[in-house]
Amino acid sequence: MSLSKQELDEFRAEVHAWFEENAPADPGFLLPISFMEVGTDEQFYFLRDWQRKVYEAGYLGMAWPKEYGGGGKPQILQDIVTREMVRRQVPFMFNTIGLNWAGPLILNMGTEQNKKDYIPGILSGDDVWCQGFSEPDHGSDLGNAQLKAERDGNEFVLNGSKIWTSLGVHAKYMILLARTNAHANNKYEGLSFFLIPMRIPGIEVQPIRKLTGEYGFNQTFFTDARIPESCLIGKEGGGWQVAMATLAFERGAVGGQAGGHSMMSKDVSEVVELARKAQRNGRPAIEDPLIRDQLVQFIMEQRTLALNSARSKVKALVSERPHSIAMSGKLVGSEFQRRLNQFALKLQGANAAYYVGDENAYDRGQWQRSYFNAFSATIGGGTSEIQHNIIGERVLGLPKS
Ligand SMILES: Cc1cc2nc3c(=O)[nH]c(=O)nc-3n(C[C@H](O)[C@H](O)[C@H](O)COP(=O)(O)OP(=O)(O)OC[C@H]3O[C@@H](n4cnc5c(N)ncnc54)[C@H](O)[C@@H]3O)c2cc1C
Repeated sequence: MSLSKQELDEFRAEVHAWFEENAPADPGFLLPISFMEVGTDEQFYFLRDWQRKVYEAGYLGMAWPKEYGGGGKPQILQDIVTREMVRRQVPFMFNTIGLNWAGPLILNMGTEQNKKDYIPGILSGDDVWCQGFSEPDHGSDLGNAQLKAERDGNEFVLNGSKIWTSLGVHAKYMILLARTNAHANNKYEGLSFFLIPMRIPGIEVQPIRKLTGEYGFNQTFFTDARIPESCLIGKEGGGWQVAMATLAFERGAVGGQAGGHSMMSKDVSEVVELARKAQRNGRPAIEDPLIRDQLVQFIMEQRTLALNSARSKVKALVSERPHSIAMSGKLVGSEFQRRLNQFALKLQGANAAYYVGDENAYDRGQWQRSYFNAFSATIGGGTSEIQHNIIGERVLGLPKS
């Protein structure tokens, strides 16, 4: 269904009005910057209620099939909503793993029953999903995952541990990569992929405290946890292919996500405001020509990122290398955020040493916190080094080192 410019403009106005009226007020406590930092119950309930409200208004999962709770509408409408959320800086859609990678995976590869069972709860936020990929000794080297899933009749018995499980304490379900065959021809063929319930005997989730003092990720321990074979997605031994499909959604290389933003990215305009307040040699930092020069550089980069993201949706522009822009988007976008936050701290000079809660800190110390947290996206979902390798090998066709 193609929509006219007038229809799109009308929809844009409707969305604008809805968020104008319904954007939540400041809750009076610090909200996390992304789904990777949801650490307290009050943050969790606030974000869950907000996601539910957006979904009930029809503004989430708009392009997902109607029979599973989606809107059955053109993707362009969801893109308009997502852009409005980012522009207004409303709180993010916290059930990110469900909305952006487990959900699209289930819609693509799951059974009819999987879709009916899981998709509605992902959209409403009632069923939180987490991801069990990384292990204490295997992060980038995902193909070496060792958590055991041993077949016992029509069940699998899980033993081992996963780490950095974002949203783990709140999750009802996990996407899990586990080793079902320790003697397969190669390490990849021994892996299988599961959609598992988290609240069963034998699964224990232990929160991990971060440098910022926040929580959000966890270590998950499995001790003789039993799951039915119906938890398998894809074939037994075919887990590596399913994991790669999941990562393609996670890294934005393939579309199909429910929509909504998953983190509160900083905008250069906020740094410009900071530069007006912060002092350099007794004058506002923004009066320093070198600072202005760097700000303009950031503005150009931010604009380039936005234009590239729009370009990636125009088929004719990316047909030769379909995933090239999307794949570089995670790498360049996350590194941009890290540098932008770093610059915001440099602007503050010695004041950068204050932290959240200190009345002398600029903007309640939020820059310090967001600087530390800006590293998350450069690591989670594949580190920047790994993204460089993937782009080098799969997009540019360079030889494997
Ligand atoms: C905030 C946050 C949230 C996360 N949430 C989740 C989650 O929900 N679920 C989950 O499963 N995981 C999660 N992770 C884990 C994340 O996916 C891993 O941290 C990441 O894949 C890196 O693995 P590692 O930490 O074991 O580092 P390692 O793999 O040990 O890497 C250490 C360093 O070596 C470099 N390196 C490794 N291999 C290569 C190579 N081949 N070429 C060049 N450089 C290399 C890396 O870039 C890195 O700098 C999260 C991580 C963070 C930071």
